[in-house]
Amino acid sequence: MDKISLIIPCYNEEESIPILYNELDRISNIMNYVEFGFFFIDDGSTDNTLTLLKKLNSNDSRVKYISFSRNFGKESAMYAGLSYVDGNYVAILDADMQDPPSLLPRLYQTIKQGDYNSVATRRITRAGEPRFRTICAKVFYKIMRKISKTNIVDGSRDFRLMDRKFVNSILSLKEFNRFTKGMYNWVGFKTTCIEYENVKRCAGKTKWSFIGLLTYSLEGIISYSTVPLIITSLIGLFFFILSLFFIIFIIFRQMIYHNSANGWASMTCIILLIGGIQLFSIGIIGQYLSQIYLEIKGRPHFIINETNVNVDKNVKK
Ligand code: UDP
Ligand code: MG
Repeated sequence: MDKISLIIPCYNEEESIPILYNELDRISNIMNYVEFGFFFIDDGSTDNTLTLLKKLNSNDSRVKYISFSRNFGKESAMYAGLSYVDGNYVAILDADMQDPPSLLPRLYQTIKQGDYNSVATRRITRAGEPRFRTICAKVFYKIMRKISKTNIVDGSRDFRLMDRKFVNSILSLKEFNRFTKGMYNWVGFKTTCIEYENVKRCAGKTKWSFIGLLTYSLEGIISYSTVPLIITSLIGLFFFILSLFFIIFIIFRQMIYHNSANGWASMTCIILLIGGIQLFSIGIIGQYLSQIYLEIKGRPHFIINETNVNVDKNVKK
């Protein structure tokens, strides 16, 4: 019998977890032809998430949990989950029901019938989300597709069903700055995608601020593309060539009209422009440098405070 391990990153999700658990229990009853494991990652919650998980575990041995010592972010939570689950199929899903568990039977059927290594999901609408966020997300995916080789489609989720081979290949990417949506594409394998309409968060509030999302997307671009570096080099080259024309122009003006000292205003503008571009370019290089700095420190992705999983036995880190 196949075992599906579900990884659920939770950050202050005390309101959503009971709703999600009931739904998971219902789905697992329908899918009685597979074994289930519910693997909750408490990402440093400050509410009653952990107490709730312990209670669920005392009634249902399928519920496992890992609790972090502080908030490490969803990426770290997903990595911890992937590192310690034991199912031969694995899915990651949000605690707020925005990754509908009711899709699981279809995901399982698809992966089995099509002999796929992973079945992805993508929401085709973003109803219920702030308009500005939708527009920013669209722009991000457009830029990402243009400048990096990994093709991440708009609306694609972290939610997908993967086989063991796929999970192990994701785990073999050990970088500190993780962008799982990019990794899914990077590792390759036979994948298909299921589409669904957006579902609103069932309870509680979103954990992502606009600035948080912006930083996350910039990290995503930097992790998957060196095009920003190429663009800054091209801008540099452009201004170098332009300056050659200027030099020739000024020399001729001096020789013919003898008034090379004119134009301090335009000179100020040019200095400001070039200075700005230089700072901008240094900023971009700095971003890559800071990523290297974080990688080279080699710190763990997360620190476990409490768990009911034997983390020493199946260390895959
Ligand atoms: N999450 C997490 N750590 C964080 C932020 C979020 O584990 O630092 C979890 C959160 O509990 C939820 C999932 O990641 O299960 C998605 O978060 P959320 O629903 O707030 O994001 P949104 O759907 O609004 O993009
Ligand atoms: Mg959500």
